[in-house]
Amino acid sequence: MAVLPIRIMGDPVLHSPASAVDEITDEVRVLVADMFETMDRAPGVGLAAPQVGVGLRIYTYSYQDDDGAPWRGVIINPELWMTPVEPGDPDPEEESEGCLSFPGERFPLRRSDRVRVTGMDLDGTPVLIEVDGWRARIMQHEFDHLDGVLYIDRLNDSDWKTTQKIARKRGWGRPGSSWLPGVDDLEG
Ligand code: ZN
Repeated sequence: MAVLPIRIMGDPVLHSPASAVDEITDEVRVLVADMFETMDRAPGVGLAAPQVGVGLRIYTYSYQDDDGAPWRGVIINPELWMTPVEPGDPDPEEESEGCLSFPGERFPLRRSDRVRVTGMDLDGTPVLIEVDGWRARIMQHEFDHLDGVLYIDRLNDSDWKTTQKIARKRGWGRPGSSWLPGVDDLEG
């Protein structure tokens, strides 16, 4: 297993729709093991294959409430349904998220509170996930990555402009930028 470099905003693989997985091969199994290791090292609550430079419809997730059991898994070829997003502005305290592909920053974004995700696990077994709250946010964020969408693309105009300034300052926003968890001093 290996920790993989995480691509940063501007790399084309992050901004293109990913392809469906045709067959769960050994290569896919190794990729998923590496994705778990990379996500845990970052650390992050989710990681999509395009973030490690692979344009396939796969993401991993890992989240634990203060009092709950760990919630982790991988989903391949997901489909996502969500309840309508409540109108209004997001609460910066409660509704801010970050992304390992725009590391070290957080911005408020309103998301649907409840989702249903179907797909398959690494054995090809169908999975059904129905979650709300922060787990629903993770599912929407990771699913977006498979369609080439970053959460910063969904921010209001003012926050979006801020992200562009940050990107310019750090030399992001162009192909080939990445960081390596455990080596580079960045966090999502
Ligand atoms: Zn992300």
